[in-house]
Amino acid sequence: RSAVEITTEALERIQTLEPKLHSFLQITADHALAQAKQVDQQIAAGEEIGLLAGIPIGIKDNMCTDGIPTTCGSRILENFVPPYESTVTEKLKKAGAVMVGKTNLDEFAMGSSTENSGYQVTANPWDLSRVPGGSSGGSAAAVAAQECVVALGSDTGGSIRQPASLCGVVGMKPTYGLVSRYGLVAYASSLDQIGPFGGCVEDAAILLGAIAGYDPKDSTSLKVDIPNYAQLLKPNFRPKSRLRIGVIKETFGGGLDSQVEEKVKAAIEVLQNLGAEIQIVSCPRFGYGLPAYYIIAPSEASANLARYDAVKYGIRAEEADNLVDMYKKTRAKGFGTEVKRRIMLGTYALSAGYYDAYYLKAQKVRTLIKQDFESAFEKVDVLVCPTSPTTAFKAGEKTADPLSMYLSDLMTIPVNLAGLPALSIPCGFDQQGLPIGMQLIGKVLREDQLLQVAYAYE
Ligand code: GLN
Repeated sequence: RSAVEITTEALERIQTLEPKLHSFLQITADHALAQAKQVDQQIAAGEEIGLLAGIPIGIKDNMCTDGIPTTCGSRILENFVPPYESTVTEKLKKAGAVMVGKTNLDEFAMGSSTENSGYQVTANPWDLSRVPGGSSGGSAAAVAAQECVVALGSDTGGSIRQPASLCGVVGMKPTYGLVSRYGLVAYASSLDQIGPFGGCVEDAAILLGAIAGYDPKDSTSLKVDIPNYAQLLKPNFRPKSRLRIGVIKETFGGGLDSQVEEKVKAAIEVLQNLGAEIQIVSCPRFGYGLPAYYIIAPSEASANLARYDAVKYGIRAEEADNLVDMYKKTRAKGFGTEVKRRIMLGTYALSAGYYDAYYLKAQKVRTLIKQDFESAFEKVDVLVCPTSPTTAFKAGEKTADPLSMYLSDLMTIPVNLAGLPALSIPCGFDQQGLPIGMQLIGKVLREDQLLQVAYAYE
């Protein structure tokens, strides 16, 4: 079929499903059809086309798209149309991918259920009364419901892996610096990383290959060669030496849903049967990731969000008397509750007199967590644990209790603090038919190994 036919089908499916799912903040039909037409013309002219040519893709709405509104799920950016393109979407365009829309997210990527979006609540395709996870819930739901083949998300503390787990798809957070953050609206810059969602490991590998690579426009971008991830996936992959997989002891404690535990343990047994050597390893400071993250991420966010001053971007409260009043009224109106909470937490942690006790302490804890991973990786090649302690929860269930919401990312957050790559892969269902995810964590820049293990498991 032609790219235009494939795109038209995807757009029709989106039209049918969106009234129930609300995965997309915006459907970019004209843009998609124009891009698809171009791919068809290239094929007709016998030109070489990329692996993603004609493939419908969803882009989380915190990545800037030239001439196409980018809201970040926030009312404050309701009218923002970027005058430039993010590096990832630029690369995807060149690869021929067809962006069918911008996907819903928690405002500024702060949340674990996509309920913090300033626009709409996305449903989980497996059970419409439940959340898809977050903050990249729109991307995860869109791929799970096959509104698009693949999607991009961003992951600061779990925002790709947790929704992938709750929606039963593959989601990966690459090594910090592997994918350019240029044009990604900043949340917590030392943790943010863009990554792929796919219905299977191979799709995620192809998408990762298309977006990874050095970018002079991002000062934290790594100058490394990018392997052909998809080509490394072999049906009967057997590593040369026996692969050692470490089960993180601390992740199987209290708070873990018994069915999640059962299915992840069964998946680990499958890995063992595939030839891996399984060891139990300890990361003693793993549990301190969550409290450290909720100092570091809000601190960085409070600085990053200072730019929304009603002058440079977004909406402006017109009824203000003077400049300070304009800031106050605009920010009071434009930001949602969770974003305000984070700004308050962050500015508090960074204030003189509290900085040492909170921010500096949290940075020290971050180093200890990184050291725990380093010692674990002296013994094993890959670490494994559940992605999320529970399956998808009911919409509204945790909105009144931020702490219980934060706990959803207990197992994903330490990975961001250490800058490591990790992915979530579906490993079964609970008794209610809700998907469960297993998290595989790799050494720095060993995305190849992670994808190979996941592919062998799949
Ligand atoms: N749920 C976490 C938070 O609210 C992580 C979000 C993310 O990874 N963007 O900060």
